[in-house]
Amino acid sequence: MSVDACPFCGLPDGEPLPVVSQHATGSGVTMWTRCRCGSLQVRAVDQGRVVVLSRGRPG
Ligand SMILES: [Zn+2]
Repeated sequence: MSVDACPFCGLPDGEPLPVVSQHATGSGVTMWTRCRCGSLQVRAVDQGRVVVLSRGRPG
């Protein structure tokens, strides 16, 4: 089970997005990013892989 694109605007998760904030974790980095549609995403970056952990609604 994985979602690889924004369900609101269809932007692929691989696209770079503006980083709202980021935090180092034990295994990598957790980033909050804002999609072009306004949806806030929580992304975990671990050894070069990006996993979207959660998404907010646009606007
Ligand atoms: Zn989006």
